[in-house]
Amino acid sequence: MAPGIFPAAVYACDDLAQVDQLLEGGVGGYVYRRDGQPNADHLADKCRQLHAAERAVVCASGMAALATALLARLRSGNRVVVSNRLYGRTMQLFVHEAARLGIESTTVDCCDLASVAPALESSPAMLIVETISNPTLRVADIDQLSTMCHQRNVMLLVDNTFASPIVCRPLEHGADLVMESLTKIMNGHSDVLLGLLCCRESAWDRIPEVVTTWGFSPAPLDCWLASRGVGTLALRVQRASDHALAIAERLSKDHRIQRVIYPGLTTHGDHMVAQRLFAEKYGSMVTFSLPGGRVAVERFIAAAKDIPLSPSLGDLSTTLSHPATTSHRGLNDVQRASLGINDGLLRLSVGIESLTGILSSLEAGLAASAG
Ligand code: PLP
Repeated sequence: MAPGIFPAAVYACDDLAQVDQLLEGGVGGYVYRRDGQPNADHLADKCRQLHAAERAVVCASGMAALATALLARLRSGNRVVVSNRLYGRTMQLFVHEAARLGIESTTVDCCDLASVAPALESSPAMLIVETISNPTLRVADIDQLSTMCHQRNVMLLVDNTFASPIVCRPLEHGADLVMESLTKIMNGHSDVLLGLLCCRESAWDRIPEVVTTWGFSPAPLDCWLASRGVGTLALRVQRASDHALAIAERLSKDHRIQRVIYPGLTTHGDHMVAQRLFAEKYGSMVTFSLPGGRVAVERFIAAAKDIPLSPSLGDLSTTLSHPATTSHRGLNDVQRASLGINDGLLRLSVGIESLTGILSSLEAGLAASAG
């Protein structure tokens, strides 16, 4: 029942006739790990099914998957439109690194469709957006964005990391390319670094070649571990999302908290969009703000001892992150404020441990936060 682990970097061939057949695609098989290996193919196929995609490839990290999309689908002279809420490294890739390759970019607020339309008039080749953004959990209206893109022959790339295919399958809402950082909830155990790129047949051209030629291929053991993680994805996402909703509802009634953000709350500005796009669950991320700023946050972190401060997400256990000092550290106060981030903002990645335990840790943090 368990697949093997295939660490081989290179395979032996019986004779030259077999070499010819393997390299010309006459028979299936593996020759050199960078060009393909069984554990990567096994994982890619599981992920392809989860996204109802025609094609999928696993890369050495989420960033390698994004770089693959860039290098396979764009060329010098192209323009891209990027969401102003993208993960920092994604922004760096599609704005600064892309500029060095002769690809210009425009940044827009993709939750304001009226500002997306003029940006799409500059004939970009691609629009890049995240299903659920960090840390204010804005939900991109992929239905509307894909319609707007396709009317103008623009490709839509969606980073679905915060949602996972259990919550949202962007290809079914018109996206052309979908990316996941498998490092996060897809693997779910904080022990691998991997990325996924999946799409329809029509967008697949050049993708395998880029992964192989730029050396973005993943390691077999990481793929094996992630295949195991993906096997429990649906159960984990369902439980973590149920916990997240219960936590968001509890926190929103707590007078010690300034603001609670969760797409599953009817008070969330994008709740209706989330209801249309998401499959019942609203994901495992909850963001909230303490009125006492950084001092209150420090007290909270020290008292909520069972919730580790960790700048990632999607683990089995609940973790906390403080965007102002981690993911959004590079921005100034004005830039952070424009994204709704202040020093009192904390982001929870809710895990699958006991809900009572998480709530009691949060209570300890809140009791201490007021001083
Ligand atoms: N996209 C999002 C939304 C992320 O949060 C991250 C990493 O934090 C990435 C992409 C990059 O993924 P990786 O760290 O696997 O390269």
